[in-house]
Amino acid sequence: MPDILPDDWKPQATMKRIHLHWTAGNHKANSTDKRSYHILVEGDGNLVRGDRPISANAKGSGVKQASHTKNANTGAIGVSLCCMTGAKERPFHAGKQPMTQTQWDKGMQVLEELADAYSIPITSKTILTHAEVQPNLNIKQNNKWDIVRLAFDSSVKGFKDVGDLMRSSVAELRDARSSSIPHEDIDPIHKFDRYRVTGVDPSTLNFRSSPNGPKVGELPERTTVEFISAIGHWWQVRTRLGYVGWVWSEYLKPMG
Ligand SMILES: [Zn+2]
Repeated sequence: MPDILPDDWKPQATMKRIHLHWTAGNHKANSTDKRSYHILVEGDGNLVRGDRPISANAKGSGVKQASHTKNANTGAIGVSLCCMTGAKERPFHAGKQPMTQTQWDKGMQVLEELADAYSIPITSKTILTHAEVQPNLNIKQNNKWDIVRLAFDSSVKGFKDVGDLMRSSVAELRDARSSSIPHEDIDPIHKFDRYRVTGVDPSTLNFRSSPNGPKVGELPERTTVEFISAIGHWWQVRTRLGYVGWVWSEYLKPMG
């Protein structure tokens, strides 16, 4: 699948998380929306760039951030679906500009592309909805309920179910992306694409957000991973649940 975001919408920056919102506005992005978010998805799936670049929210950028999430904007990309003006949580009423399936699907593509561009793993603390910020990151928000309901699918309810659906959709898109990489593009040294964590027991292999960067998880002995790319001995791999991170490759053995 070709990329849908222009390169200059993805400036170089160290970003840790992506928050998915809705604007609680109309299907078209207005000037307030553009000030608050980095990328907006309109009701028909059209993409609009916000006024502030993603890099403005990098730690220490020194310029005004897109202020999309209370006390949690630094290092966080804000993506928002333009919809849900006048919506009510209980009893649920989606209002006159409900979220559309087209815009949700386009939003998932945007999240996957950003996760790939900024090497952000697909976890509930790194790719999350605004409604998940308080429960998952323990950063208090003011009763934000974006997104606990999908106007086009009443079977999905609650911050956890919506968040999990979002992450599994992003993981599926990621799988589609990596399987479309032509084999010749992979360094011929990496003859086998599946590896098993070996020789770390009783400890675990550190799973990092960048080569020798912050630890974001641990892989126990015998975990299987898929090779994505390498910088020297640091390898970028994907776990079976779709998490992408960097590990020290000396503890990976090819599965043949
Ligand atoms: Zn929000």
